[in-house]
Amino acid sequence: MRLIHDAQEMQSEVLALKKLGKRIAFVPTMGFLHEGHASLLREGRKLGDILVLSIFVNPTQFAANEDLGNYPRNLAGDMTLAEACGTDLLFAPTAADMYPAGFQTTVSLGSLTEPLCGASRPGHFNGVAVVVTKLFGIVQPDVALFGKKDFQQLAVIRQMTRDLNLPVEIIGMPIVREPDGLAMSSRNSYLSPVERQQALCLYQAIQKVRELFSQGESSVERLLAEARRQIESVPSAVIDYLELRDGTTLTPVGLAGKGTLFALAVKIGSTRLIDNTLLGDEP
Ligand code: AMP
Repeated sequence: MRLIHDAQEMQSEVLALKKLGKRIAFVPTMGFLHEGHASLLREGRKLGDILVLSIFVNPTQFAANEDLGNYPRNLAGDMTLAEACGTDLLFAPTAADMYPAGFQTTVSLGSLTEPLCGASRPGHFNGVAVVVTKLFGIVQPDVALFGKKDFQQLAVIRQMTRDLNLPVEIIGMPIVREPDGLAMSSRNSYLSPVERQQALCLYQAIQKVRELFSQGESSVERLLAEARRQIESVPSAVIDYLELRDGTTLTPVGLAGKGTLFALAVKIGSTRLIDNTLLGDEP
């Protein structure tokens, strides 16, 4: 595996490989890798001749009051896991290289970025859209893999890729969970042992909603009330949002049905966690 910091060097490398007919698979991340990232890398390994991983904690997707400065980092550990998953090229640029003085381009989407995380994190998806556009320009992937853990992000990237005719196939990958159900996340490292237990309420809410839906409950109010009860059983949990929305357009639904997205964001202590499930789909 080669570690490349420089964007121009990265781009020249992939352009040379593409001239040789190589298919490029790409997994963009913010690092502090876990099994969720590894699942994307392993699938990417199968889909491309050359597997590229990027690690970049993108400042433009963090608001001033968010955890950019504290975001966990471990390049040495990440390199070991990346290599074990068959990564060929690891691109780890600096913020100064990605956003040099004078940078002024924005990429913003419409209604897809308004609800859910877009409502609680204004500007977040513009930051995601611009960095992913840049990374696609640098890495020139034929196929890029994203996790459904960040469901709205995946929807935004699919929409942006379609709208801008970017020649990249987007693959969405299932959420990887800890044995007790907590969705894996680099941010789980912020949780104290007590908070780690409390964080299970997100998965319990998901299980409850799935269970009631499978028994025929389709009332949005009743499903959300039960989900709320699960979260509120942990007194220190603060709900950011609990919502049922159309799994494609992210617009509100009158009744829950197959393909309805149940998504939630909950703060456990100072750590904001997100999770989701598509009703009537594989868990
Ligand atoms: P991040 O480093 O958190 O920005 O995540 C990089 C990529 O890994 C994104 O496409 C995420 O959706 C994906 N990812 C993160 N956690 C998980 C997980 N638990 N299961 C599947 N994919 C994940």
